[in-house]
Amino acid sequence: LAEEVGRLRREWGVLFTVINAVSDPILLTDTEGRMVVANARAERLFVGTQEDSEGRRRAVELNGMLLAAAIARAGDERAGAPRELMLIDPSDGSDQLYEVLGTPLGEAGHDGVVSVLRNVTDLRHASEQLEDNYRRLRIAEGSARAERDRLDLIIDSVADPIVVTSPSGETILMNAPAESLFTVDGHAADGQQRVVQANDAHFSAFIAGLLLGDGGAGIRRGEIGLGHPVTGEAIPVEAIAGTVVTESGDLTAVVTILHDRREAIERGRLYEQLKTATDELQTRVQVATEELASQNELLRRQAIELEQASRLKSQFLANMSHEFRTPLNAILGYTHMLLQGVGGDVASGVRRQLQRIDANARHLLTIINEILDITRIEAGKMPIQLSHFNVNELIPEVIAELDPVIARSRLTLMPRLDPQLPPVLSDRQKVKQIVVNLLSNALKFTHQGSVEISSSVDADRSHVRVSVSDTGIGIAPEHHERIFEDFRQVDGGPSRQYGGTGLGLAICRRLAHALGGRITIHSDVGQGSTFTLVIPADTDQ
Ligand code: ADP
Repeated sequence: LAEEVGRLRREWGVLFTVINAVSDPILLTDTEGRMVVANARAERLFVGTQEDSEGRRRAVELNGMLLAAAIARAGDERAGAPRELMLIDPSDGSDQLYEVLGTPLGEAGHDGVVSVLRNVTDLRHASEQLEDNYRRLRIAEGSARAERDRLDLIIDSVADPIVVTSPSGETILMNAPAESLFTVDGHAADGQQRVVQANDAHFSAFIAGLLLGDGGAGIRRGEIGLGHPVTGEAIPVEAIAGTVVTESGDLTAVVTILHDRREAIERGRLYEQLKTATDELQTRVQVATEELASQNELLRRQAIELEQASRLKSQFLANMSHEFRTPLNAILGYTHMLLQGVGGDVASGVRRQLQRIDANARHLLTIINEILDITRIEAGKMPIQLSHFNVNELIPEVIAELDPVIARSRLTLMPRLDPQLPPVLSDRQKVKQIVVNLLSNALKFTHQGSVEISSSVDADRSHVRVSVSDTGIGIAPEHHERIFEDFRQVDGGPSRQYGGTGLGLAICRRLAHALGGRITIHSDVGQGSTFTLVIPADTDQ
């Protein structure tokens, strides 16, 4: 017996060493749930000593209760099924999750239960982490899908064909414009299939060239000759390819945009045409400019010659007029003397003839005076004598000078003078000469109605105006400027109705300019005319 006991003790010793060597807590509990055997690991969890700290003791106590409850529960459930048990690590107070594998002993567990506890805390953490990662992965997948949808939308809304290629050269994605170039219905005509195949080959060659290069990040450009699958028309495109590279530098895709160059080529062609045309134009302009320059030179020389001729003419006219005036004055003087009866009585028939001589000689004198005036003005030899005077005082004198003409004309003459007229600082004799001229023209070219002579001042009182209006034959607009030219008459033909030299208005305008003023005209054929002399008012007064 003693031998048997000794053997059993040895066996028990071996067994206990074995269970102690296991890293999982192993324990045997009786039917009451009391712990009968526990290995070292189990003892650390469930057995306390007097030296233990308060915290450790409480942890061990709590673990014992949790274990008893777990074992009791195990009786109701299927034996052998692992269950989880949350215990407290007495050494650091941390929560530890165990999986309990209970094995009943004896018939229906009458001899107690052997429980093996496996610490699954780390396993649980790992699985939780895994679940968390999986959830994150799903979210990332969702956002990647949304991103891709967005990208698809962008790619599809671009009018240029876009092709996304994998690093191995396979097409991953393309938008509708690219599809029309690189895909074709299986039933399409042979021609179309061929064009699409050729397009594909050209594009693949471009991508292959790119991938065979360094394939690094950056933008590549190249030219590809494609064809339109339906029309067969050649489409030269510029391919702009960008590589998509991961953070670690791995190539994930190549995005290629194909830009139709037909428009740019056409623009270039038109630009070339335009340039040629511009060059041609420039040459022509240059030729024309040179021609113009030589003509200008010719004109300049002619102008000098003309000026010389004109000066000679003026000189000649001045001399001649002077020469004419002396004998003419003698004729007028003698005629006057004869008419006055200095040479004895004059018979009435002879008197009429003498009066004709007198009238014609006076007319000739007027003409000669006008010619002399114009030549003097042209030679800049017309002296200006300034004085202060009021134009209103001058108008009755003008009327008086033309009295015989007014009486003959049987027209009503209406003077309308502005009593507020400011004085002027001007050449009185010249102003009078101008107004006499305008009034005598009005009387000459008016057959019926009236002639009005009026004075007025501008709203800002800067200029004085003398207007002569008539109800005469009027002047067509195309003659308004020309009648101010030397010797110019509206009716200048040999059968003209009205006498005169055509110098009156030319002299008037020159005199008005010399006085710092101007002459304006308002006239219409059959409606009458208004000539206005405008001269500066004397602002110092
Ligand atoms: P002349 O009266 O000596 O011919 P002017 O220089 O005074 O020369 O006038 C030039 C021309 O202008 C006149 O021949 C006439 O045709 C036209 N003219 C001038 N004043 C008037 C007017 N008041 N009504 C119509 N025509 C006029």
